[in-house]
Amino acid sequence: MTTPSPTALVIGAGIAGLASAIALERAGFSVRVVDRAPVLAPMGAALSIWANAVDALDQLGVGPALRDQGTRIDQMAVFRRDGRPVIGPRQVNDSPYPGARSYMVTRAALQSILLAAIDPACLTLGVAMTEVTQDAGGVSVQLDTGTSISGDIAIIADGIWSSQAGAMLGGKPRHAGYGGVLALSDPVAGESGAHAAHEYWGLGARFGVFDIGGGRRYWFYMRNEADSAEARLLTHAQIADTARDWMPEIGAAIAATPADRLIPFSIHAKPPPIRLGKGRILCVGDAAHAMEPNLGQGACQAIEDAVALGVIARTRPVSAIVDGVERLRLKRIAHYVKQSAEGARASHSRSALTRGVLKVALGMAPAALTNRVISGMHVLPDYPALARDG
Ligand SMILES: Cc1cc2nc3c(=O)[nH]c(=O)nc-3n(C[C@H](O)[C@H](O)[C@H](O)COP(=O)(O)OP(=O)(O)OC[C@H]3O[C@@H](n4cnc5c(N)ncnc54)[C@H](O)[C@@H]3O)c2cc1C
Repeated sequence: MTTPSPTALVIGAGIAGLASAIALERAGFSVRVVDRAPVLAPMGAALSIWANAVDALDQLGVGPALRDQGTRIDQMAVFRRDGRPVIGPRQVNDSPYPGARSYMVTRAALQSILLAAIDPACLTLGVAMTEVTQDAGGVSVQLDTGTSISGDIAIIADGIWSSQAGAMLGGKPRHAGYGGVLALSDPVAGESGAHAAHEYWGLGARFGVFDIGGGRRYWFYMRNEADSAEARLLTHAQIADTARDWMPEIGAAIAATPADRLIPFSIHAKPPPIRLGKGRILCVGDAAHAMEPNLGQGACQAIEDAVALGVIARTRPVSAIVDGVERLRLKRIAHYVKQSAEGARASHSRSALTRGVLKVALGMAPAALTNRVISGMHVLPDYPALARDG
């Protein structure tokens, strides 16, 4: 007689939920994913998938698809508004710098890549979780259909506003004080900016322009805001006007973007979590550790959550999974949450002195030092070895 595989119930089919589902299927679990959205539409436009997450996607078996559909980042740089460099520019494809293996990918493409790697029968859309309960033998997920499903472990991956994660982990999302718009452009003229990831830091505002392949750019504009409704009031004409005295690649990307394609956003983040769950309920992705987007690591860390979960799920009893994942992940998550918040200060600090000092300090820091700091963030820990040691 064979033992039936344990069942994992994954709440949310965003990047965290889908990556976790892949990891658990590969660890031999029977997986069920529910999402309240009737159709899975990608939220946002594109993502930087830094080398740590590319390695993590390799461990989930989908790295080749990312390389195929993404656009490799060969050059990274942060400039002042007038083009003077703050960090870099550095070529990352001809050095041992691990960022050489980083990619830009549209959210739609990443979602399709992850979806293609799970058993389609395990996904149920248009059904919301209302509550998750547990006892010593398993978990039960109440659904808004009035029914419930039961399993051995629940993975809470329902995003930053997750009430279940809020109740278990504490730490409410707070408005970070800035927001803006982002978009995918049509092809821009010329080759400049190919395979590049550029940010431009001004006073209380910044732009980002990233090559997304096919001559198109993913770009964003962020500025300080008093409340989270302000970003929705920004118009294409206003942003194009603002960009006029910034560097030309920004204006080119905006000009190549239809006005109805702008996506407003307001940045919210949670404090670093001190736990990731309890018993048989584990929180992953933004539900556990929503961070400011300044390192481009929110989704990358959700993918790392999945790898750590898969490693632990393969080697520990179900009742020990939460503890095992916490041991592998909590310290690293706290580091990224804190550094992501720090990353905003050079542009968005309310203090002109802080902004100025940070820009000068970053501009003067030896390239070898900034390289080491950034590249350290783009290295995937050896989770299997850490799990063995811990
Ligand atoms: C402007 C901006 C730029 C960013 N850029 C980057 C970047 O370049 N690189 C990077 O790595 N990260 C980036 N991030 C962060 C990244 O977007 C998030 O960390 C990531 O998308 C979180 O994924 P998730 O699956 O945890 O949550 P979500 O994407 O929010 O998914 C949650 C899912 O749960 C579902 N759901 C919610 N409630 C329920 C319920 N009750 N029942 C069932 N289903 C439910 C939702 O429908 C949704 O599908 C950026 C974020 C922002 C705001």
